[in-house]
Amino acid sequence: MKITYIFTADGKTKVEWWGQERFRNRESRIYTAGTVHVIPIPDTLILCDFCNAEITEFPVPVLWGSHALCGECLTNVQRRSNDN
Ligand SMILES: [Zn+2]
Repeated sequence: MKITYIFTADGKTKVEWWGQERFRNRESRIYTAGTVHVIPIPDTLILCDFCNAEITEFPVPVLWGSHALCGECLTNVQRRSNDN
């Protein structure tokens, strides 16, 4: 897995580049009173954690451990050198 670093509002931030295989066997757990509903997430459905756009290009940039970003959001979180 490739790892790069970008600068965001949080400072130097690690970007992990995940291949399609890293998104297999995910699930969503919904806890309600006394029960847990486990909803499998389709292996091929990868949504941007910021804007919910569907991500179709691999590898996918993943920030802060588990947040997949689309290309547009990755650009937007990067602190531009002329921002002060
Ligand atoms: Zn996005």
